[in-house]
Amino acid sequence: MTSVEIEEELLRCMRCGECQAVCPTFSVTGREGEVARGKLRVIKALFQGDLDLDAGVAEKLSICLLCKACCTACPSGVRVDKVIAAARKDLADRRGIPFKKRAVLWGLEHPRIFSTAASGARVLGILPRRVSIQIPSRDAVPPERARVIFYAGCMINNITPEIGDAVETVLEKAGYRVERIKEACCGIPAHYAGLHDRAKKLAEKNLRKIKKNRIVVTACPTCAVGLKEYPEFFRGKLREKALDVGRRTYDFAEFLDASKLGDSLGSLNMRVAFHDPCHALHGLGLAKESRSLIKAIHGIKLVEMEQRCCGFGGLFSFEHPSFSQTINDGRVKDIMASKADAVVTSCPGCKYYLQEGIRRGRQKTEVIHLAELFSRGIR
Ligand code: SF4
Ligand code: SF4
Repeated sequence: MTSVEIEEELLRCMRCGECQAVCPTFSVTGREGEVARGKLRVIKALFQGDLDLDAGVAEKLSICLLCKACCTACPSGVRVDKVIAAARKDLADRRGIPFKKRAVLWGLEHPRIFSTAASGARVLGILPRRVSIQIPSRDAVPPERARVIFYAGCMINNITPEIGDAVETVLEKAGYRVERIKEACCGIPAHYAGLHDRAKKLAEKNLRKIKKNRIVVTACPTCAVGLKEYPEFFRGKLREKALDVGRRTYDFAEFLDASKLGDSLGSLNMRVAFHDPCHALHGLGLAKESRSLIKAIHGIKLVEMEQRCCGFGGLFSFEHPSFSQTINDGRVKDIMASKADAVVTSCPGCKYYLQEGIRRGRQKTEVIHLAELFSRGIR
């Protein structure tokens, strides 16, 4: 984002305060510095040279999950997420980023080490154990099939591989030939931490791995947002490729057509609540797609909950664990009040973090990804 673009966004904020009602960080503290309006004011003061970029300002800018809820709520259409990401870039250029954040980012870019650490954490009970999913035999799949790339991303590859198994099962049953690529991290964690050059390098790696004209399906809305935002990083030929990949990238919830599963989709007798991932709702504009899919499974009763963030926010949960857990506790209360047998979501990060919150609250409600729900529903 250029400085002119940032200034335009800052000028568009009319200080109405509509963003307060939807902001997960403001819901915890009620402090003006923790809502979009307050952050834009701080960034404006930095921009005008009225404020120094000190540790206090850095802390203020870090207290945001970049959930984009304020962007949806804002009547002036201020792209708060882009302004905060640009301010964090300036901050990272001038002051670097905290060690914790740097360590997690390094782990994401070294998946073998990250995966080994995740397995250890699973053995110690810190991360959930892998759920076993039945994968249909490969020769049960029709011979003429469209190819799709399944872009799994770091969370599914390293923390919730059961979601990846379920996506493959369901897409193959729906008639697709699923390809896996050795993808790099989508780059969003680095981008949101202010490390734009690193995010750009990851984006370039992914763009080179995705073959021309291929449809890309993700089961992580943050990865889908990341892939769709790649054109912002490049000019020339790579930008053309990024635009093409962005147009061909789909979230699982928007890509799956339940009717393609035909008679193989059975029934599930369950009461489920649906948790909207922030990046599905505010980044991709998906809400009704997941609900329509859930309702396509016979026997399911869908109950609605108020919209609320799970508190994960990727690196935010590492940098501000107690803040993040307080947001998460609120979401767990909603889930308990729904009296659902299971909470379904369409994001591996939300799944992981809701499981953590439910376990911390000594509750037993199951958390499953939309793809896992379908995988269970297949006969
Ligand atoms: S809703 Fe938009 S215009 Fe209103 S205060 Fe928040 S950022 Fe500014
Ligand atoms: S992106 Fe989310 S956490 Fe950040 S200011 Fe907006 S609503 Fe609040």
